[in-house]
Amino acid sequence: MAGAELIGQEELKEVMDVMETGVLMRYGFDKERKGVFKVRRFEEEFAKYCGVKYALGVTSGSAALKVALTAMDVGPGDEVLVPAFTFLATYEAVLEVGAIPVMCDIDDTLNFDPDEIEKKKTRYTKAVIPVHMCGSAAKIDKIMRIARKNKLLVLEDNAQGCGASFKGKKLGGFGDMGIFSFDYYKTVTTGEGGMVITNNKKLYLRSEWYSDHGHDHNPKVGRALEGRTILGFNYRMNELQGAVGLAQLRKLDYIVAEQKKNKQTIKEALAQVPGVGFRTLPDPDGDSATFLAFHLPEEKQALKFQKLLSAYGLDTTCYKSNKWHYVPNWEHFLAFSTANSKKYPFADKANKGKVKYSRKSIPFAEDILGRTLVMGISVKMSSEKLAAIANAIANAAKKM
Ligand SMILES: *Cc1c(COP(=O)(O)O)cnc(C)c1O
Repeated sequence: MAGAELIGQEELKEVMDVMETGVLMRYGFDKERKGVFKVRRFEEEFAKYCGVKYALGVTSGSAALKVALTAMDVGPGDEVLVPAFTFLATYEAVLEVGAIPVMCDIDDTLNFDPDEIEKKKTRYTKAVIPVHMCGSAAKIDKIMRIARKNKLLVLEDNAQGCGASFKGKKLGGFGDMGIFSFDYYKTVTTGEGGMVITNNKKLYLRSEWYSDHGHDHNPKVGRALEGRTILGFNYRMNELQGAVGLAQLRKLDYIVAEQKKNKQTIKEALAQVPGVGFRTLPDPDGDSATFLAFHLPEEKQALKFQKLLSAYGLDTTCYKSNKWHYVPNWEHFLAFSTANSKKYPFADKANKGKVKYSRKSIPFAEDILGRTLVMGISVKMSSEKLAAIANAIANAAKKM
């Protein structure tokens, strides 16, 4: 639960700054706000942390995906390559902009397999969304190389990898755009919230306009007189979220460091179990360590080990049977049960492709996710707790 475990005085102080002025909105009210701009500062500090030029706070990670895809002009008639293992929101965002998500296989990182780009692209493909699942990186250098060669845009869904990096550079900053989620489960939380990052000024401005009804945020005139070039919608982050985000961001390096220590202890206990292997981390130093993923040689063994661990009080997730993170389990998605009665965009004329969502097209995911177990890592894990986990692992292993 990471950031949620650490909510305290620092968040309270930032929130109180806002409450004392009473200005809960990020824009306008220049006189009343007495120099307090929490969202703006959160964006500035977040961009600096990620090593990028621009960051835009929005209402959620899902909104961030939609804003970024819109800024990149992904829309009706376009296809977007998305890994089969991700949270539903990644697919929903593609549909929200009227494009079609194309399901791709994963590799031993459990993330988007770079070789899928040339296998699954069609003449309609416009973008790729690698997702850094469970806190660690996809092979982002190779993904960028192949995507560039094929002239495809890259949007990194880094909702789960806040604070993680690859070879010294923070994830989210490799693609044309990157997004983050600050929902209550994520590494940094603002209750609900999200961030869009980019080094491209045009993409940043289009995101900013779209997220606030087209407002160009001209500092020389009042809000009512601002100009606009495109229509938009409202995905504005509010000042309370910005305040909490600022305090949380300052704890991020501590969160990652503590999680890494805890993860290492548990990993050492698991490494004693015959047959156990670990997820490939393209850069172990850059892991944000929010989760530990390990696998057994066979699915049957993994499920048996999961049951035994559970009997000893240790819960793990097998994502092949998870309802929200694996495309083949999304019966409503597979039935094109869109909220609109027209099955848009699947049934739209603009959709010229013949996209299928068959388990056969993702053989590696079908194999590896069935025999992989995933454990959440907390920031606060006492030595007693860690010892109890090591005990549960040893006891379960004896019965295998
Ligand atoms: C959480 C998550 C999202 C959506 O973020 P919200 O802030 O919950 O809308 C998108 N993608 C992935 C991979 C996620 O885990």
